[in-house]
Amino acid sequence: INSKLPNVETSIFAKMSKMATDFDAINLSQGFPNFPSDPALIALVEKAMNDGYNQYAPLAGDFELRMEISKKIEKLHNHFYNPETEITITAGATQAIFTVIAATINKGDEVINFTPAYDCYAPTVELFGGKIIPIQLEPPYYKADWQEVADKISAKTKMIIINSPHNPTGMLFSEEDMLHLQDLAEKNNLLVLSDEVYEHIIFDGNVHQSASKFEALAARSFVTASFGKTFHNTGWKMGYCAAPEKLMKEFQKVHQFVVFCVNHPIQKAMATYLKDENHYLKLGDFYQQKRDFFLNLLKGSNFKIIPSKGTYFQMLDFSEISDESDIAFVERLSKEYKIATIPTSVFNEGGRDFKQIRVCFAKTDETLAEAALILKKFE
Ligand code: PMP
Ligand code: GLN
Repeated sequence: INSKLPNVETSIFAKMSKMATDFDAINLSQGFPNFPSDPALIALVEKAMNDGYNQYAPLAGDFELRMEISKKIEKLHNHFYNPETEITITAGATQAIFTVIAATINKGDEVINFTPAYDCYAPTVELFGGKIIPIQLEPPYYKADWQEVADKISAKTKMIIINSPHNPTGMLFSEEDMLHLQDLAEKNNLLVLSDEVYEHIIFDGNVHQSASKFEALAARSFVTASFGKTFHNTGWKMGYCAAPEKLMKEFQKVHQFVVFCVNHPIQKAMATYLKDENHYLKLGDFYQQKRDFFLNLLKGSNFKIIPSKGTYFQMLDFSEISDESDIAFVERLSKEYKIATIPTSVFNEGGRDFKQIRVCFAKTDETLAEAALILKKFE
């Protein structure tokens, strides 16, 4: 077979979670909580199954759920997406992202991607014949330089991909960043894919700057989101895409042949669960406590730390501890210290190694305490 993705390897998340199992290591690598989902939500799924929601959902998703999503976005960002025509429920954000790219990127189109970048964007663009134009953000703050973005836009640029709160760095786009983006997108007639899966995991009083909040930006953006992150059930693979009708129409043309529709009883349950805003508005405080608990325990270690501003990831700089590559360091941590983390060079342009590893703090306090004890050994 003539590979369509000759340079793509198995995702680092699969690799590191396997290593965690193989070496019986604490798994702070792949991003998922190790505590249970809310039993009340599980009971709602069971109820939906007993109520008979066991056949195909509508193509765009359960209407009640789309209405709840529309209400939530309007309440938080003051933008109305028509639940009839502008929202589609997907199998996690991954399928939403894949479908956006499949529906929009043609051979030769250029797509601007800030690196370090979540791993699914570039291969999907490549699969549809697009060309990634990377823009490398630099540690420690990973701030976007909008002049550099402007310089890299060409006549072939079709889309800019953004992700705030940002995986893996925990950085946020400010309102000013979004205004720069809006300005460039408008001037150059670009589409935007705004991956907002960590929209509710944001700390220290910061506010999430959704693309939907900026009128001219919302008019050219696909916003993708994940219930897995928000409701602690990444294994349910439930998310959505919101976009203006003209864009959503193209999205749905593809979606219907990727999955047609997604898990019906879970959608029904989420429609009810989403009605209580406490189920998402308290998430930032919940994870901020986890971040602070973990970082307090790490005080005095030789890792250099800039606290994450959002997501449930924390970058740890190990340059004072070892000269190894981050991949070698992470392997040694897994094998010898029994703690699995993520080497972040895999997300960078050309695999640049800033000697930073990513840890996931969506874990019980017991797990975090155990992990901190191990990491403190590097004194
Ligand atoms: N985007 C980002 C930035 C992510 O971290 C993830 C991973 N969880 C996804 C998309 C995919 O989300 P899902 O698990 O809902 O497919
Ligand atoms: N988003 C998760 C992370 O960054 C991983 C999801 C996956 O395994 N594809 O760790």
